[in-house]
Amino acid sequence: MNGSPLLQVEGLVKRFGGLAALNEVAFRVEQGQIFSVIGPNGSGKTTLFNVITGVLPPSSGRVEFRGRSVVGLQPHQVTELRLARTFQNIRLFPQMSVLENVMVGAHCRTKAGLLASAFQPGWVKQERRETEEKAKRLLSTFGAAFEGRHHDLAGAQPYASRRKIEMARALASEPELLLLDEPCAGMNPVEIAEATSYIHRLRDQGITILLIEHQMSVVMEISDWIVVLDHGVKISEGKPASVSRDEKVIEAYLGRRTGRAPARKRQ
Ligand code: ADP
Ligand code: MG
Repeated sequence: MNGSPLLQVEGLVKRFGGLAALNEVAFRVEQGQIFSVIGPNGSGKTTLFNVITGVLPPSSGRVEFRGRSVVGLQPHQVTELRLARTFQNIRLFPQMSVLENVMVGAHCRTKAGLLASAFQPGWVKQERRETEEKAKRLLSTFGAAFEGRHHDLAGAQPYASRRKIEMARALASEPELLLLDEPCAGMNPVEIAEATSYIHRLRDQGITILLIEHQMSVVMEISDWIVVLDHGVKISEGKPASVSRDEKVIEAYLGRRTGRAPARKRQ
C-alpha cells in the first residue's frame, strides 16, 4: 500500500472520562475501497466516525483526509472537503419534505448565503432549481421508492426509505469518501440486498466507502478491507477471508456469547 491514502488515521485516542473509546487506532483507507469497521457493540465504531467527521474532537492522534488534517474542523467544514456521512440513528428533519431533506445536503455546494436567499435574485432561483433537480436525480437512483413522494414529510416515510433519504442527503454534498454507520440495521433481507448493491454501485461511481455494519454477511461480501475494533483497540485488519478466521476476532464476538453480531431492532 504505497502512495498517499485517501484517509489516514494515526494514533487516534478518544477518552470519555476514564474510558478510552478509541485507543491508539491507526489505519489507511485507499481510494476506491469499500473499507469496513466492525466490532462488538460499544467497541468504538461510531465514536471513530464522530471523530473523523468533526462531531467530536479526538483526545489525541491524527486524522488526515487527502493529506490534510481534519482535526479541529467543524462537521460542515469536513463535509465541504468531500467527506460525508450517515448516522446510526437516522437524523432527518422529520417536518421537512423528502426532497427538502436531500436538498439540505447540497447546501455546501451552493453559493447563495442567507442574504441572497432572502432577496431571491434570479441566480438564486436558478441555483435552487438546480439543487432541486439534483435532489430528484439522487432520489430516482433508488428506483420507484420515492415516486410521487417528493413532497411528503420525511418523518412519515417507512424506515428503509428514511435510511435512503439520509444517504441521498449525504450524496448531495458530492463526497469522495462516504461514511455509512450501519446502513442495513433493522432492514429485512430484501432491503439488505438492495442496500448492498446500492453501496456497490456508489463505489463503481468512484466514491470510496467507509462502512460500519453489523450484518456479517454484508461485510464479508462487499468489503475490500476490514478493521476490527474491540474495546477501542484495533485487534485485527485484513481481507474478509483472513479477518473471519482470526482467533482474536472470533474471541471478541464469542466472548460476548453472541457468536455473530446481535440482531438490531428498528429505531
Ligand atoms: P459502537 O458504535 O462500536 O457500538 P460507540 O462508539 O458508540 O460504540 O461507543 C464506544 C464506547 O464509548 C461505549 O462504551 C459508549 O458508551 C462510549 N461513548 C460513546 N459516545 C459517548 C459519549 N458521547 N459520552 C460518553 N461515552 C460515550
Ligand atoms: Mg455504533
